[in-house]
Amino acid sequence: MRAPASPERLVIVGAGMAAHRLVDSLAARDPGPRSITVIGDEPHAPYDRVGLTKLLGGVAAADLALDAAPLRDPRVQLRTGERGVSIDRDARVVRTDGGAEEPYDALVLATGSAAVRPPIDGADLPGCFVYRTLDDLAGLAAFVEARSADAGRPLRGVVVGGGLLGLEAAGALQDLGVACAVAHSGGHLLSAQLDRAAGEVLGRLIAARGIDLRLGARATRVEADASGYAAGLAFRDGPDLAADVVVFAVGVRPEDALGRAAGLACAPRGGVAIDAGCRTSDEAIFAIGEAASFEGRSVGLVAPGYAMAEVVADRLAGGDSTFPGYDESTTLKLAGVEVASFGDAMAASPGALDVVYTDPVGGVHKKLVMSDDATTLLGGILVGDASAYGALRPLVGRPLGADPAAYVLPAGGAPAASSDLPDDAVVCSCSSVTAGAIRGAVHDGCADAAEVKACTKAGATCGSCVATVGALVRRELTALGREVRTGLCAHFDLSRRQLYDAIAVSQLTTFSAVVERFGRGRGCDICKPTIASILSSLVGGHVLDGENAALQDTNDHVMANMQKDGSYSVVPRMPGGEVTPEGLIVIGEVAREFGLYTKLTGGQRIDMFGARLEQLPLIWKRLVDAGFESGQAYGKSLRTVKSCVGSTWCRYGVLDAVGMAVRLELRYRGLRSPHKLKLGVSGCARECAEARGKDVGVIATEHGWNMYVGGNGGFTPRHAELLAECLDDDALIRAIDRFFMYYIRTADRLQRTAPWCAGLEGGIDGLRAVIFDDALGICDDLDAAMARHVGSYEDEWAATLRDPDRLARFHSFVNAPDTPDPSLAYVLDRGQPRPASREERESGAVRIAGTTLEVRR
Ligand SMILES: Cc1cc2nc3c(=O)[nH]c(=O)nc-3n(C[C@H](O)[C@H](O)[C@H](O)COP(=O)(O)OP(=O)(O)OC[C@H]3O[C@@H](n4cnc5c(N)ncnc54)[C@H](O)[C@@H]3O)c2cc1C
Repeated sequence: MRAPASPERLVIVGAGMAAHRLVDSLAARDPGPRSITVIGDEPHAPYDRVGLTKLLGGVAAADLALDAAPLRDPRVQLRTGERGVSIDRDARVVRTDGGAEEPYDALVLATGSAAVRPPIDGADLPGCFVYRTLDDLAGLAAFVEARSADAGRPLRGVVVGGGLLGLEAAGALQDLGVACAVAHSGGHLLSAQLDRAAGEVLGRLIAARGIDLRLGARATRVEADASGYAAGLAFRDGPDLAADVVVFAVGVRPEDALGRAAGLACAPRGGVAIDAGCRTSDEAIFAIGEAASFEGRSVGLVAPGYAMAEVVADRLAGGDSTFPGYDESTTLKLAGVEVASFGDAMAASPGALDVVYTDPVGGVHKKLVMSDDATTLLGGILVGDASAYGALRPLVGRPLGADPAAYVLPAGGAPAASSDLPDDAVVCSCSSVTAGAIRGAVHDGCADAAEVKACTKAGATCGSCVATVGALVRRELTALGREVRTGLCAHFDLSRRQLYDAIAVSQLTTFSAVVERFGRGRGCDICKPTIASILSSLVGGHVLDGENAALQDTNDHVMANMQKDGSYSVVPRMPGGEVTPEGLIVIGEVAREFGLYTKLTGGQRIDMFGARLEQLPLIWKRLVDAGFESGQAYGKSLRTVKSCVGSTWCRYGVLDAVGMAVRLELRYRGLRSPHKLKLGVSGCARECAEARGKDVGVIATEHGWNMYVGGNGGFTPRHAELLAECLDDDALIRAIDRFFMYYIRTADRLQRTAPWCAGLEGGIDGLRAVIFDDALGICDDLDAAMARHVGSYEDEWAATLRDPDRLARFHSFVNAPDTPDPSLAYVLDRGQPRPASREERESGAVRIAGTTLEVRR
């Protein structure tokens, strides 16, 4: 029997995200059903399940509630804590476990999915959790708090399942202070979304975040301790993992029991079968969200559920909308680890072509899948840098221009796709909002992305399109000649520059205080490292202290530079490139003892590669004892000051370049900035230090130092411009102090000095006026800020060695602190170790880290 269009009585079973969207859409229509009854078995009003992890970050459950306005519609009755237990299809009545009978003209099943708890011994022990509902997560948080208080030590946890949810859960456990491992049965993480190459890059990023990985691992049993609590996890292959907390994130099963018992057709793999109009095999009954199965599949993402809800709302109003099929585009929500996959990410379409950019050193892998004639974008994978996701996903199925590679090359090369999006391109897939709708909202008066979000719902759910929405809004506002607000990200309306000033004035010292005072929410991968950097510049403090640790980028997190195989490199600081014979001997001994590959860097230092996470403190200790620091050869901070040999040895040198380079490096070491900083000092105009390719270049003349600014190498090389001539030592240092502090204070996030200088009002003359003539009246502030930096500098590595809490981060396997990472394997090449290739690993003739080295020629 077909449900009448505009039914009098609508009943919805399930009060989750899809049900809420349906009610929202119906409440906006007039006329709609006379009564809408929503029956939900959770004791809460509909909440943002996608944002559920925020609960573990301190967000109150009430703040996760979805918009209550539609539920206040007088036609809507929400019954929480009540479960639909049967459907009498002939009488058109739903019965609940509370004994109620709800008659309906049309019924919608929106019962979602249930998290799967694997059928292994011990999976129900106290300490074992699934990760699906508000109560699951509240229970997990309460358990961790109580158990760690009892144990008097940090807990150890294992997440079973290396999919999107498992990695999100692992990050959340870590944020709760639980040392976390992920056990995944596949050969690489996110096997449903990523190909192997991308999964391997992701694996290294995850490991660098301090989450231990066990791949190809099938759990067989949860072990209990004497009190009956979970204590460890046993595997079919490989050693046990100790675990006080086990989170199962191994998948979900569509909640189709109600429909199945009522005789509705269900898909073999679960889910109530629906047609394109979201009708089940009973015309009066619809199914939406994860409970529904379209073309034999049910997908665990919110966007299809929202699309189905809109289809049903339209159908109930007499329309003929159809569900377009699943868009499985998705992103990983784990701070510091950017991953996105969209469209035909696995290149399954016949003849599909790949455009791949991989930078294993930088931990970036990007793949675009193109049609067989290389014209049309079919999908893609972004790992390590997913900033292009919001711009690329709406272009799926559309031509990508003559040079698709430009979209995956590092920043600077990629065209600004968002500005060219056609009106019908879907920008927000969760809420099906097109570029045209966003432009329309701006024309209708919305003044920024937040207002567009409130008006269209673009960016309101998973947030992955927020950057694209922002770009579209800014462009449209500019085209209309209206004011453009320049907020840092969805959590801050202030720009980086405004935030810097706000933090300086308010003297706040933690991210949570900053976000509470000037922003909203829990922050993201844009604002967290940015504010960490601002706090470092303004407040100082150790990068691994308190909240700071969780804000840092990968390398800052472990204070070393992660390499393509997941090991680390250590670059002892050598101001001016000077090293004594004793120092050289220590470096040689360290490299020999730890089996490290050594190489001179372009910055005149000695880089030692192949250190394991747990070896880092041991290496630092040796270096610190010999008078070295480890050195920030990574991160957004001062790298090195390169120099020639200068007047002390060189026949042509006119000033002491090495002495000046030493002075500059010691002064600016540890200085956090919007991007990396490099300096060069040449002792004469022959420019052997290539100083004009640096952010600050200093070149000696007969009359003093010439100072150049805004140069860099890399993808878009640029020569520095002359800022000042013939400075004496102190005047030079004062000018560099002000230049750096002015840049740190006013540059955009990730803006190098070159584009910053180019964008300054008045160009190089304007900069000169600020630094030498105090045109803005800020020179005292700039000088004071640099004095604070210099005065508060401490050797971060030595400080880490002194602190057991900081040291606790440096284990390859949290559960077996002394076990080296077995995924590291090396062969000898030209007398030094290098990472083994896959073939070499498979042949077995390699040195696995920690065992004897085998020589290969
Ligand atoms: C931690 C987490 C993070 C996520 N992150 C993302 C993300 O980033 N992007 C994304 O797209 N998706 C994400 N998801 C998935 C997303 O939340 C779901 O796809 C979405 O909630 C599905 O909506 P739904 O209404 O179909 O089901 P649900 O939201 O699960 O709602 C179903 C409701 O029905 C109730 N119910 C079941 N049976 C009955 C019954 N017989 N009687 C009454 N009530 C019943 C359930 O208890 C539940 O409250 C995430 C999920 C989790 C758990």
